[in-house]
Amino acid sequence: MGLLFLFIILLGVAGIGYINVMKSDTENILVANYNTLVYARNMLSTLDDNSQQATKTFEANLKKQEANITEIGEKETTIDLRNNFELFKSGKVDNSIIPTMRKEIYRLMEMNMQGIQRKSDLAKETANTANFWIAITGTLCILIAFTLLINLPSSIANPIKELMESIKLISERKYSERVHFESHSEYGELAKSFNSMAEKLQEYNNSNLAKLMIEKKRIEALINNMQDPVIGLDENLKVIFANEEAIKITGLSHADFVGQPATSLALHNDLIRSLVKDLMTEDNNDEKSKANPLVIYADGKESYFEKETLHISIKPTGEETQTIIGHVLVLRNVTQYKELDFAKTNFIATISHEFKTPISSIKMSLQLLENEQIGNLNAEQKNLVDSIKDDANRLLIITSELLNMTQVESGNIQLSIMPADPAEILTIAVNATKTQAEQKQIKFDVSCPEGLPRIQADNDKTAWVLTNLISNAIRYSHDNSIIYLSITSENNKVKFSVKDTGQGISPQYKDKIFDRYFRVPGTKKEGTGLGLTISKEFIEAQGGLITVESEFGAGSTFTVTLNSVA
Ligand code: ADP
Repeated sequence: MGLLFLFIILLGVAGIGYINVMKSDTENILVANYNTLVYARNMLSTLDDNSQQATKTFEANLKKQEANITEIGEKETTIDLRNNFELFKSGKVDNSIIPTMRKEIYRLMEMNMQGIQRKSDLAKETANTANFWIAITGTLCILIAFTLLINLPSSIANPIKELMESIKLISERKYSERVHFESHSEYGELAKSFNSMAEKLQEYNNSNLAKLMIEKKRIEALINNMQDPVIGLDENLKVIFANEEAIKITGLSHADFVGQPATSLALHNDLIRSLVKDLMTEDNNDEKSKANPLVIYADGKESYFEKETLHISIKPTGEETQTIIGHVLVLRNVTQYKELDFAKTNFIATISHEFKTPISSIKMSLQLLENEQIGNLNAEQKNLVDSIKDDANRLLIITSELLNMTQVESGNIQLSIMPADPAEILTIAVNATKTQAEQKQIKFDVSCPEGLPRIQADNDKTAWVLTNLISNAIRYSHDNSIIYLSITSENNKVKFSVKDTGQGISPQYKDKIFDRYFRVPGTKKEGTGLGLTISKEFIEAQGGLITVESEFGAGSTFTVTLNSVA
């Protein structure tokens, strides 16, 4: 670039120089020779004229000529012309001198014309020299500019391109990439900085990689040592890791399991199918799976596992939304608890069964005691017998509730479903609770329209449920109140509702009252907290539904819906 600049200056200087030389040449011709020709012509034109004016003009032009002597020999000729003119002016000579003067003027003209010719040749030569040098410098300028034009863009663009490629590779974590520019160019510095950056990144990456590898091994060991089976799936449900426990229960080899898509494994493996079913259908029924643990043959026996699905989502760097990157299935082995639960259920079943006989015999003995044929009881003894009877009845209710619960827990609800008259079932329940209601002066308001369809239900169990609901209504109602019992039918369904105006249930406990052994805190009335649980199980086992609506302090309405006979 510097050289090009120098040559352009040279070109400018040479151009201006030569133009100046040529200008002075032409000026020279104009001043020195052309003026002499003009004077000579003026003198010639006055030569044949003898007038005073002509002599003056001649005199003036001759003076100018005398001041404009430029050529060799011009001076002598001018002096001769002056002498002859002086002679002519003095009148000492006749007109014969005029041809001599004319000759001299012609000589002057010729001398100057030769001068013009010479100088014009000189100017031509100057122009040629100027042409030569300007052409040479111009060509050099063009050559340099052309070379720059060809080489400069590539010499700038190539390193940038190379640098760009390298940056791209580095961003793809190929840290071994280096750039190689000539070290003396400006890019050399850049390349040095870039390479040192890449080297540091490589070092950093290697040290991080080693750390990550250790961390990965640690986590793998941790997962492998877990007693519970753990399976990791990516977002496309491909198995990315599984611990030994998980591999053991699937019955597959490590290679056949890890790295395979769970969807295709599910085609041949029942266990995997049931594990990923909800992920494949995107329905998250963890609650259901907790309630019904998976039964898997493991450790040489039937084992129970509770499945927990964790959906792993992250917010990628620079993004706003969370994206799911995989799922972890943890199967918690609950066999031990299940076994304990079975033992407890069996124990309760046995105990309550064993209790039934002595309680029945207590009741029979009480009946005998009440019999006047055996002997009269005084008032105090009668009171005692009555309270023993109440307690025995309560015990019988509790044992029958516990026995029902054991049926529910072991999943052995024995139903005998057949067409039944809903009004008849309600009557059984009303009769069973009549005495209890009378004790609190509570009245029933029964609304039972004529011509109700028959329902598809287990007579005894439905009557038991209604008895339990009415009994609850009585227990949690105030004395002298009314309990509204009604049966309605709509859309192939029959609805029993038990409405009381008692204390009601506060909203936070509404969903919990159907849980096992749950009693609203602070409930002082006797009870086990099992009645509603059993009721729900009995009704749902018949394909029905039990719901509650309650306003705290104003009463509750329990509704049982069952299917009518089609
Ligand atoms: P319990 O043997 O305690 O009555 P349940 O399962 O029948 O057991 O009822 C669970 C809890 O629900 C009761 O302890 C009581 O607090 C509440 N509950 C049930 N029915 C009513 C009702 N009609 N009015 C107010 N609270 C009720």
